Amino acid sequence: MTGVLNLVSVGPGFADLIIPRAENALRESSVIVAYELYLRWIGPWIVGKEIHTPPLTQERERALLAIEKARAGATVALISSGDIGIYAMAALAYDEIREDDTFTVNVIPGVTSANACASLLGSPLSHDFATLSLSDLLCPWDWIEQRARHIAQADLACVLYNVQSAGRQEGVYRILNLMLESKAPGTLCGVVKNAYRPGQEVAIYSLQDLLTLKFDMLTTIVIGNRFTQRKRDQIFTPRGYNEWRAPETETPTSADDAAPFPTAATWVFSGTSDGNALARSLATEGNPVVVSAATEYGGEVALQDCPGVTVWAGRQGVEARRQALVKSHARVLVDATHPYATIISEQLIALSQELGIPYIRYERPSGLASAHAGAENALLCTSMAEAAQRAMAIGKRIFLATGSKDLGSFLQAPGAVQTQAQMQTQWFARITPDAENLQRAFDLGLPRSHICAMQGPFSQDFNQALWRDWSIDCIVTKDSGDAGGFQAKVDAAAALGIPLLVVQRPPVAYPCVASTFASVLAQIQHWESACGSQ
Ligand code: SAH
Repeated sequence: MTGVLNLVSVGPGFADLIIPRAENALRESSVIVAYELYLRWIGPWIVGKEIHTPPLTQERERALLAIEKARAGATVALISSGDIGIYAMAALAYDEIREDDTFTVNVIPGVTSANACASLLGSPLSHDFATLSLSDLLCPWDWIEQRARHIAQADLACVLYNVQSAGRQEGVYRILNLMLESKAPGTLCGVVKNAYRPGQEVAIYSLQDLLTLKFDMLTTIVIGNRFTQRKRDQIFTPRGYNEWRAPETETPTSADDAAPFPTAATWVFSGTSDGNALARSLATEGNPVVVSAATEYGGEVALQDCPGVTVWAGRQGVEARRQALVKSHARVLVDATHPYATIISEQLIALSQELGIPYIRYERPSGLASAHAGAENALLCTSMAEAAQRAMAIGKRIFLATGSKDLGSFLQAPGAVQTQAQMQTQWFARITPDAENLQRAFDLGLPRSHICAMQGPFSQDFNQALWRDWSIDCIVTKDSGDAGGFQAKVDAAAALGIPLLVVQRPPVAYPCVASTFASVLAQIQHWESACGSQ
């Protein structure tokens, strides 16, 4: 007796999206191996059969069980939702099938989350697209980031599967930020939860808005390309007939375009007042200096702070940066970006290695290390997600001094399901007065009376007055290395007896670090003399 292994796809949910061939395979199988949830939709076809439901985590065990039954001569259906060949059981089964196995294998295709979700959004995948799973259980995280970069640089529309799990909160925001390096902030996107299942939710956002949202493992994100448009509350990507200009991120494209950058300059990637001060001090040494700031506003500040240097403002994307550095024969890369801007740091390190340009990280010592008193009482957290959980366990009126970009780690977008703790928490935030930041806070449902939009630095007195008037009972901040500002928070929290949660700096393997202007300069001079003596 020869067994049969049917690898059956049952679509996203409701039974009417299961193809007839899958129904037949289920009917003819005497053994069913599936994750319990899916049985709901295939109920009518499996009554009276031998059913096995190993838990979701035991995927390999599920595959092995199905194979053993088929080897013993049974007709078996191994089931996955969506398409069984897409991030699902078919490949695990093929891993375990032996060359000398004699049972028949049938793979039955199904509607995968990508096209199920796209159909609910309109038609966003009508031109080239890629899918990317953000689960790092079976693929190293570095690879996921590398693929995300390529997808964004190729301006492919894309579908993100396995978006955010309880234990993997930050990853999706890293991927979105990477995409924002090459895709426009206004790129149209869709978020679909429980497609074609009870509890279906469908919403359209801009790419940048996604940074303020929370997701889960029942959700799929669809990201459009540069041509994706909105119509009647839906989105679609035209088939073609577009104006196919070269992507803006690839400029400058000729040596002439690179002319605005001085040759053999020291490039300072800034974004902090410290970085600008460093650029100014490097400029006094006589070599040309270029300051690159991530926002237009950052560029204006840099122009004021560093007279005489060349300023490059805005999200340039890695390709434009590569071209500008190569064409202007950059002499050295000084990374003075914010300690939490790890994506840009990692990108600069990679560029320096690729292009053979020396890299140095300038970073003020951690505020935790340099604060002179009180910092030992701070409660340290390794991630924003951890800080959110701990803050809700400690306080009811929580003050976020983390910056607007991280608000999404704490606040739930309006309409999202809230836990008991979230319902009992009131959030307050201090953010820099930027239209974009305010909009993000509004979108997350923060009342205007809970927002302090003001440019720092803030004194201990100011902090104390604000926190007392707002009856704050817990504070969350970053270890930004802004020694003065950090100490003023530590002191104010101690004076009021309020717990202070500090989210630690994410670890980055900087190849070369200096913490004073003098040591940055000394290192650059050391490289120069090493070059000169060759
Ligand atoms: N084989 C499946 C994918 C399994 S990976 C398929 O082809 O669709 C699991 C991920 O798929 C989830 O984390 C989620 O991102 C997505 N997903 C599965 N079912 C979904 C549904 N009904 N609605 C939205 N996303 C879904």
